[in-house]
Amino acid sequence: NERTYIMVKADGVQRGLIGNIIGRFEKRGFKLIALKLVHATPAHIEKHYEVWSGTPFFPGLIKFMTSGPVVAMVWQGLGAVETGRAMLGETNPLASAPGTIRGDFALDIDRTICHGSDSVENAEKEIKLWFPEGVVQ
Ligand code: ATP
Repeated sequence: NERTYIMVKADGVQRGLIGNIIGRFEKRGFKLIALKLVHATPAHIEKHYEVWSGTPFFPGLIKFMTSGPVVAMVWQGLGAVETGRAMLGETNPLASAPGTIRGDFALDIDRTICHGSDSVENAEKEIKLWFPEGVVQ
């Protein structure tokens, strides 16, 4: 059964969107496997976004993602990775269709509300990074 790593980012938590986002994944039929509220360190966020290291927006991304807690989650179900991404919308919120998380709640590419793994391989990596203690099932 496919698993994906979904994270309500600092802006999503600050804006009170945790319940809305969890509700979307529950109603779609995915199963919640793990969940925790984390105030991450810069080193941890740097590891999560290591492919972006060296880009002009990297320092701002680290600052933003450590400005408050995030909600780290693992969701399981058919096509969890691809469907999870579809539910998020596009990387650029302006290009995201209404009905998606970003299409409903975001405008700015620096404040995109929620993260979802972009491949099965990255999902397993991200789950290990955020849940080193392991997940229940
Ligand atoms: P995420 O990985 O956060 O779910 P994504 O997979 O849709 O987002 P990526 O292309 O992986 O998008 O970008 C990772 C992060 O880097 C995003 O959080 C986004 O805010 C930031 N980012 C990407 N491109 C830009 C850009 N051109 N300017 C500013 N920030 C950017």
